[in-house]
Amino acid sequence: MRQVMLAALALALAGCVETSAPPPVQMAPLPEAGSPVSPGTAAANFVGVVRRMEPVIEQECLARRARTNCDFRIVVDDRPGQPPNAYQTLDSAGRPIIAFTLPLIAEARNADELAFVMGHEAAHHIASHIPRQQQEATTGALILGVLTAATGGDETAIRTAQNLGGTIGARRYAKDYELEADALGTILAWDAGYDPERGAAFFARIPDPGNRFLGTHPPNAARIDTVRRTLASLQ
Ligand SMILES: [Zn+2]
Repeated sequence: MRQVMLAALALALAGCVETSAPPPVQMAPLPEAGSPVSPGTAAANFVGVVRRMEPVIEQECLARRARTNCDFRIVVDDRPGQPPNAYQTLDSAGRPIIAFTLPLIAEARNADELAFVMGHEAAHHIASHIPRQQQEATTGALILGVLTAATGGDETAIRTAQNLGGTIGARRYAKDYELEADALGTILAWDAGYDPERGAAFFARIPDPGNRFLGTHPPNAARIDTVRRTLASLQ
């Protein structure tokens, strides 16, 4: 019964915000990535990108007067069995960490790709996406909880709705944050002397998440478009 109610609620919410699918976007050809590289080349690319990107990232962080720690630490996540991934987090002292898994370093075919991903992750921190997203998730949960109470839901229904509201609040904003991070990541990679468009072509090799409701990532075409528009404003 609870399951059925939850499913019905999810459907009702999806129905409220669903829009018709946008027409397919014609995308100009992407720059060539090159062939897969040897482990030695992959490691050298990564070390070179860290050296050039780190000072640019810290300078931009300070220049934007972000109310945050700008002393970035870039690390390799060498835990076995990790998928190709990069992420940003904070250590216990609040220092920003950008982590790359070994499969991501191996998967990147050129330094531009690593630089773009590094710029993208740094941008999430500079733009304070983690605290902002937590705030928005809380607001989403509160609104949905109040709505459920107002429509006479029992206590269990309210709690379920609060969890669901948190998810919707967090994920709904995630796409905007990704595009914002792509735009600032473009600037960071460009300032460090890399080609952000060639770097962003990395996404064309990973599966396109499309534009589904509750998807956390924007479609690849939207990301490439953001990079191109940002680049045009820099040149
Ligand atoms: Zn991101």
